[in-house]
Amino acid sequence: MRDPLPQRRIFSISALALAAALLVPGAAHAAGADGRFEQRRSTHFLLREDVAIDQRTGPLGSRNFERDVLAVLEGGYDLLDDTLGLRPRRRIEAEVYDPAVFDASFGALLPFPAAGFYGGVIRVRGDVRVTERLANTLHHELVHAALDAAAPSLRLPAWLNEGLAEWFAARAAGRPALGRGQRAFLAESAHHGALLPLEAISQPNLVQLAAEDAPLAYLQAAALVDQIAARGGDRALRVLLAQLFRSGDLDRALLRATGLDARGLEASMLAAFGLRR
Ligand SMILES: [Zn+2]
Repeated sequence: MRDPLPQRRIFSISALALAAALLVPGAAHAAGADGRFEQRRSTHFLLREDVAIDQRTGPLGSRNFERDVLAVLEGGYDLLDDTLGLRPRRRIEAEVYDPAVFDASFGALLPFPAAGFYGGVIRVRGDVRVTERLANTLHHELVHAALDAAAPSLRLPAWLNEGLAEWFAARAAGRPALGRGQRAFLAESAHHGALLPLEAISQPNLVQLAAEDAPLAYLQAAALVDQIAARGGDRALRVLLAQLFRSGDLDRALLRATGLDARGLEASMLAAFGLRR
């Protein structure tokens, strides 16, 4: 399968928690596709779904869709524990919106086109079936939800938060963290001296970036997290998170997991890609 171009990547934003939370009551009451959210539970999730799907039953019905969404989330939950050592205890809430309702409710709020975001609740732009893209968004947002559950007051740098989410969604889909097209985009950006400074992607969120910088920010984030895994396997990611939750000190946790601090990790990532600033 051809790699998606960076420009067509799906972005999701964990940074809009506060603003989005303020919007939610209105959005939740807005007339959706059929005017109400269907609700369904699984072991670890509570799903509310409001996609315009004509029939309730049958293979293309909304019940089947809800089961498929929950199966993707539960599969992600198991993989989270295996890969990152994250196992949220409280039930995670997820809302799947009709695309038109999602755009109308959140489009103006988002600094760049997004397929979902996390703000205490996973909110995603839905579809009438579970596509690869929707599964990707669900897995991405699940990581934000799990990190929030593990350490609600810890402010992670965006490169780690978004990088873990991107890395995990790729792992869940069985593809490399960066595909060929994405590596080429990264190389081209480096060639033009356009890579974003580590400081810019170390802010708690990426909303301060220009919209056109977002694709590169997510790619650099995924490349940094992939470099942690390249140096020490998935175990390094688990060690990093456990240490980080314990101490709150990222460089110390990175040193423990990889032998490098953030600056060293970036240099190692650039060297691995044959890039220079
Ligand atoms: Zn995200």
